Amino acid sequence: SIVVTGATGHLGRHVVEQLLEKVPAERITAVVRNAEKASDLADRGVRIAVADYNAPETFDGLFAAGDKVLLISGNEFDKGRVGQHKVVLDAAREARVALFAYTSAPGSVTAALADDHRATEQLIVDSGVPYVLLRNGWYHENYTENLTPVLEHGAVVQAAGEGRVASASRADYAAAAVAVLTGEGHENATYELSGDTAWSFAEYAAEVGRQTGKEIAYNPVPVDTYAGILTGAGLPGPLAEILAGVEVSIERGELAVTTGDLSRLAGRPTTPVAESIKAALEG
Ligand code: NDP
Repeated sequence: SIVVTGATGHLGRHVVEQLLEKVPAERITAVVRNAEKASDLADRGVRIAVADYNAPETFDGLFAAGDKVLLISGNEFDKGRVGQHKVVLDAAREARVALFAYTSAPGSVTAALADDHRATEQLIVDSGVPYVLLRNGWYHENYTENLTPVLEHGAVVQAAGEGRVASASRADYAAAAVAVLTGEGHENATYELSGDTAWSFAEYAAEVGRQTGKEIAYNPVPVDTYAGILTGAGLPGPLAEILAGVEVSIERGELAVTTGDLSRLAGRPTTPVAESIKAALEG
């Protein structure tokens, strides 16, 4: 089987959707916390397995020898993601899966956000399981799904200075994962995945302005101000700090690295950010 964790998340849904175009549904297993959330996938013939990264016993017997597994990194920052990921890795290793792919962060990123990913990568490499590290860059959707305050204030507010972002759409990263899960010869590879081109927040603001006919400025603020805006909007302090750290990484160019790995795996150019802006404005 091809087994996908986080299958009811944003990225996981894209992966399962694209897998369904390539392999029979009964060869796909969606690992989910909540079976109800996956009822549409079950209806289409996808096998559903219910398991939680926080409960190791739920992974007992879930994987079989020869499976190709995609571990989509978790989003519970306060629950110890490295330990959660290890639960899935241990079960996969014991089952002797054929491939263990993991959605990581770019090797260039020094921000604290990448710490869990680096630690997880180390566990994977040390485990001896055939692996693929999918070092996903930033999603377009991190920005395009948050256009409401931008349109309200007529400003893109970030703390990234003139830094550029080589983002791609979630569907693009999903295409890379699907290529690896359905292809051959990816054992023990590390892919640095990003959009084909890097854009600046000034360019991003100008594009939102162009598409909406509104005056949209880029308003760069200091990192502390940015963290304050996030906590003011209700984000927990530690998470605001992590996201502010990402701004520093962007200003340093750590999320602007383009290797072409993503478009090579997907077999097509990555989605321009303008297209994701358009989709968000229409949605
Ligand atoms: P989502 O938050 O939409 O999905 C996260 C998935 O992880 C969900 O399916 C969720 O399950 C599942 N999950 C979380 N905790 C557990 C757990 N304890 N046990 C089992 N499953 C769990 O994120 P995306 O799909 O957008 O992105 C995937 C991952 O990529 C994120 O989790 C995060 O690690 C990382 N990320 C990357 C970004 C980037 O720009 N590259 C930006 C943001 C995140 P459920 O559906 O039940 O909630």
